[in-house]
Amino acid sequence: MSSSQPIDLRLPTPGCYADPIKAGIDADAVFDGMTEHLFFTLGKLATSASLRDLYMALSYAVRDRLMTRYLASQEAIRAKPHKTVAYFSAEFLIGPQLNNNLLNLGIQEEAEEAVKRFGIESLNDILEVEEEPGLGNGGLGRLAACYMESLASLQVPAIGYGIRYEFGIFNQIIRDGWQIEVTDKWLKGGWPWELPQPDESCFVGFGGRTENYIDDQGNYRSRWIPSEHAIGVPHDIPILGYRVNNCDRLRLWRADATESFDFYAFNIGDYYGAVEEKVASETISKVLYPNDGTDEGRRLRLKQQHFFVSCSLQDMIRSLETRNIPVEQFSENWTVQLNDTHPAIAVAELMRLLIDNHHFEWDQAWDITNRSVAYTNHTLLPEALEKWDLNLFKSLLPRHLELIYEINKRFLQQVRLRYPGNDLILRKLSIIDEEGSKAVRMAHLATIGAHNVNGVAALHSDLIKRQLMPEFADLWPEKFTNVTNGVTPRRWVALSNPELASLLDQEIGSNWITNMDLLTQLEEKENDSNFLDVFGATKLLGKRKLAGYIHRQTGILVDPSTLFDVQVKRIHQYKRQHLNALQIIAQYLRIKNGTAHSIAPRTVIFGGKAAPGYLMAKLMIRFINGIAEVVNADPDMDGKLRVVFLPDYNVKLGEQVYSATDLSEQISTAGKEASGTGNMKFAMNGALTIGTLDGANVEIRDRVGKENFFLFGKTESEIMKLRKNGYDPKQYIEKSPELSEAIRLIELGHFSNGDNELFRPLLNSLTGYDPFFVMADFDDYLLAQDRVSKAWQNHKEWNRMALLNTARSGFFSSDRSIREYCSSIWKVNPLEVEITCNIN
Ligand SMILES: *Cc1c(COP(=O)(O)O)cnc(C)c1O
Repeated sequence: MSSSQPIDLRLPTPGCYADPIKAGIDADAVFDGMTEHLFFTLGKLATSASLRDLYMALSYAVRDRLMTRYLASQEAIRAKPHKTVAYFSAEFLIGPQLNNNLLNLGIQEEAEEAVKRFGIESLNDILEVEEEPGLGNGGLGRLAACYMESLASLQVPAIGYGIRYEFGIFNQIIRDGWQIEVTDKWLKGGWPWELPQPDESCFVGFGGRTENYIDDQGNYRSRWIPSEHAIGVPHDIPILGYRVNNCDRLRLWRADATESFDFYAFNIGDYYGAVEEKVASETISKVLYPNDGTDEGRRLRLKQQHFFVSCSLQDMIRSLETRNIPVEQFSENWTVQLNDTHPAIAVAELMRLLIDNHHFEWDQAWDITNRSVAYTNHTLLPEALEKWDLNLFKSLLPRHLELIYEINKRFLQQVRLRYPGNDLILRKLSIIDEEGSKAVRMAHLATIGAHNVNGVAALHSDLIKRQLMPEFADLWPEKFTNVTNGVTPRRWVALSNPELASLLDQEIGSNWITNMDLLTQLEEKENDSNFLDVFGATKLLGKRKLAGYIHRQTGILVDPSTLFDVQVKRIHQYKRQHLNALQIIAQYLRIKNGTAHSIAPRTVIFGGKAAPGYLMAKLMIRFINGIAEVVNADPDMDGKLRVVFLPDYNVKLGEQVYSATDLSEQISTAGKEASGTGNMKFAMNGALTIGTLDGANVEIRDRVGKENFFLFGKTESEIMKLRKNGYDPKQYIEKSPELSEAIRLIELGHFSNGDNELFRPLLNSLTGYDPFFVMADFDDYLLAQDRVSKAWQNHKEWNRMALLNTARSGFFSSDRSIREYCSSIWKVNPLEVEITCNIN
């Protein structure tokens, strides 16, 4: 299925295309490129082009300008073998592409000028047209996208492997205060950033049976005879690094049916039966599962996982073969990072490909697998640890199950030697869960198969070793490491906060964008009153823009001079949006009672999607909107309190929000949030954090300074102790008059038009079990909010603290994370891509 086109001999240098319409980067060339695409690609005259036409034309013109770099990057690897990162992730939440590519190419101003020649006022009008591919749920998918951008910017050869879902995460609308899910049709109207490569398609099997046979040389072998197949068609997205020639690839697989029609069924007149097979296989990449951190255990999801992992591993082996590199050298040429357990089947699939297809002996196959694979754990929540029902697994992947049994057998023998006679540990560590109905534990498969297991923040990695997998950590102490997450400063500062970016350029030069440690130079300005005013003014600009957006989206008028207090992230009980909501009620009551003496005027902003089946999270959204309705309609609240729920939180909205925030709410139950990355985006943009000692908050506080962070709440070990000693939320409610009063008001139906049943499940949870210790942390949270209010009174001081947050958050650049992965886990070096011809 592979064919390579001969290089067009008309080109001056192989891989170069010097036509200025395709490659020039001045405004004239961009304009000409747009005009050409309007005419030839879109079939439109410049005089009648819509904003969307111009968006498409500019995107195609920009894509043209990536191609020389993209092909040269692939050619560099082909010419000289170099270890390449394969980042396996079921989600890539890449966000809008156009502006990122303009920035990384360095042609934002040229594009602005070109666009103006079409009579457009501002490039922003065109950027706003872009719809983002919502191919992820939240933090995990966004992390994969930040990592791809950093890999390219650090000139590391890399390929991201994932799924091209036809429908991404649903679009959220709010009706009568409730979340409504609407299908995300991101591909409608065409998406200009992908390049389908059908000639590099792969076959993937499912179901069927295994059989043993003797080959021509008399060796006993096993093989899998699947009962159905799908075809994976790669769709490639170029990921250009910042101001470098390296342009990596994100390869997403779309599932096609093997045969458009089953001719046998068709011929006997079963038309619907004939199309059914096609529908079934194409369903594999139809839709992203909108769950965030719960294990759904659906057959189709396991199919998705095996589908993209198998395609990707086959693709990697094929790439060795086409370069005449022996498959024995797989681990010298590839390093595979598993983003959570979603791609953990890779351990068994690589073993299968090596043993069954390439006839390796077990030990050599295992050595190659173990050397190449590493696993990133993203959660400690038991309900989020992936397990597959054994019968389901066997029916879909019978050969993989045999291999997993063999992996498990050999592993358990190791455990036996380490813990003689300890049956309990054997049962605990086994890949097969034998408690209750049998299941395959994917985290165990990944941990056993990988040479490295990392958590995503210092506290989280520590808890993996101490609580989640103590025996594994005991068996293999060096295997367990930490790489604290990071976010790319290109998207999360330069693109999303142009006001701050240009201030930074002025003050410290533009190198911060690839070396965020340089931001510490800003510390010198902490007592420079004029500078602090300017710094505060850039924040105000962002807040004005956000206020405009809020008004357009929700009709609510908010005052940009108030404290913008923001909690945007998936809606989840452990993230405790309801703790924030209760705090708002307490402030509301203080204002009503005339006891609000020194509270800061606030605009509290929420955003986030709830998994469609997560009823409590959906009720939390309804709760926030119920509070917003009461507060925003009450004239007593004018100038003091506003509550906003921004619908459809996604990357594009995040870009507007992180940069326009004064106070970042990071209030999860200690020990529950693995890392968080929203917390980092806020801090970089000069928001102060109110937060618990959870995930990366701990490291953020260490770095920005404890005096520049509003800490509250029980620590992870205090929570553990509470749980052990029998936690009773009622005791906390009784002790707290403000909490009791808030709860009484909710019970009376004050935030539900008198309906005293609506929020009953939420109240029952909080006052009954309170599994996330909301009541235990409430009073301390309120005190921390009072410290926030007090600090807000002194604007100069607030701006100083905000500046120090920006100055000291360079560590949270994903460039730093990727450097750590490269040196300590992947052992990969950069490969500078050179372009020998003159493309400009
Ligand atoms: C950064 C980001 C997240 C992760 O937010 P957390 O606060 O770390 O949970 C989720 N969704 C989007 C769109 C993001 O940009």
